[in-house]
Amino acid sequence: MADYDYDLFVIGAGSGGVRASRVAAAHGAKVAVAEEHKVGGTCVIRGCVPKKLLVYGSHFAEDLEDAANYGWSFENAKFDWARLRDHVLNDVDRLNGLYEKTLESHGVERIMQRAMVKSAHTVELADGREVTAKYILVAVGGWPFVPQFEGAEHCITSNEVFHLDKLPKRIVIAGAGYIALEFAGIFNALGCHVTVVNRSNVILRGYDESLRDRLLQITMSRGIEYKFHCPFQKVQKREDGAFDVHLEGQDPLVADQVLVATGRRPKTDGLGLENAGIELDDGGAIPVDEYSKTSCDSIYAVGDVTDRIQLTPVAIREGQAFADTVFGGKPSTVDYACVPSAVFSQPPLAGVGLTEGEARNTYGNIRVYSSDFRPMKNVFADRQERGLYKLICEEPTGKVLGLHMIGPDAPEILQAAAIAVKAGLTKADFDATVALHPSMAEELVLMR
Ligand code: NDP
Repeated sequence: MADYDYDLFVIGAGSGGVRASRVAAAHGAKVAVAEEHKVGGTCVIRGCVPKKLLVYGSHFAEDLEDAANYGWSFENAKFDWARLRDHVLNDVDRLNGLYEKTLESHGVERIMQRAMVKSAHTVELADGREVTAKYILVAVGGWPFVPQFEGAEHCITSNEVFHLDKLPKRIVIAGAGYIALEFAGIFNALGCHVTVVNRSNVILRGYDESLRDRLLQITMSRGIEYKFHCPFQKVQKREDGAFDVHLEGQDPLVADQVLVATGRRPKTDGLGLENAGIELDDGGAIPVDEYSKTSCDSIYAVGDVTDRIQLTPVAIREGQAFADTVFGGKPSTVDYACVPSAVFSQPPLAGVGLTEGEARNTYGNIRVYSSDFRPMKNVFADRQERGLYKLICEEPTGKVLGLHMIGPDAPEILQAAAIAVKAGLTKADFDATVALHPSMAEELVLMR
């Protein structure tokens, strides 16, 4: 070890990098982590956490509307974007501080500057210093991908959306994936006119089709407009500060902000991986084996930069498994089967395991159980929106292959139910569980 400055040098202090750093340090390694922005990464700084707070903040609109039938009135209810925005950003700073403390308390050295790979054991820092390490872990994450079109520089991405000076009256969102649908819900609830524009005719590719249809139907009834098969042609800034958004085969749209949410790509540009003989895949991701090792024996990579599943808890598991394998003497891999996920749209949807389509293709003989219901709280509030739960089972064993839900609190309910799906339980096991009444979750054990 004395031959190297560090046992482990981590590039990127996001979810995967921080977990790997602190666990490796706890296993006795001398660790440094380089970060060019803030400790915490996409999830904490400009992703899951601030987004969820905006979802909570915007959801009050629905709650206030529904409150009338519950006897409450708020004649002068007002919304202050700047107050919510600043409070969210303060919370991000608080979490950033907690992440820094975690690294400190584990004795991990923080180097707040950009780092790049110089060779198999050498990292070059932005200030020109070179340091050596027995192992290097690349955990630099991803970055919003913006397709090429004229005027793309006028658009914002999920990096900027948390910092808007004021709420746009009209917003056009390019893409119909996670980020597009989550921000469509936030801005729609906050009273903005939202148009979602996608190159294809689907939203949330990969999610169960019936749930996607339900989300489309509910969000359209809430006033979100959709334009499908409409790639962007150009965005032009007008004299009044607004933008003309030109789409193929459509009249131009006028917007005060244009948010591009067309996927995220691994942030490997200029990282110097070629200096260690590492070749990227076609999407710019770092190919790794099941232990997250690259083609170079001393360099590993975890998280979005490897583009396995772009989710925080997955990156955390990969960071943990890496540290246990390399420094804890306990070879560990990550199990990617039955990873639950959710879209915090309004209403939210969540799923685990195979969709109906995937199960039919893989197993052929399946049975689908479902519950299409209007939650009691919606009925009482005169809200017409219905929830939909689907259980996809193998025949004739009844083993649950997938569970998909849309409706209030779907992600909260799904996380618990995902344990049963991961454990390989059957429809009979669900049915043997007595309903918890009255709840929305009881639909899980009452499906026909
Ligand atoms: P997604 O991959 O979810 O969606 C991308 C959207 O952009 C799709 O609608 C896709 O269209 C469209 N698109 C892709 N490429 C192009 C292109 N070249 N030109 C025009 N349109 C294009 O990406 P997001 O940016 O929404 O999110 C990135 C990742 O971040 C997600 O995959 C997810 O893993 C993670 N994330 C997770 C969240 C959560 O867990 N709740 C929340 C936010 C992000 P098409 O339909 O044709 O494919």
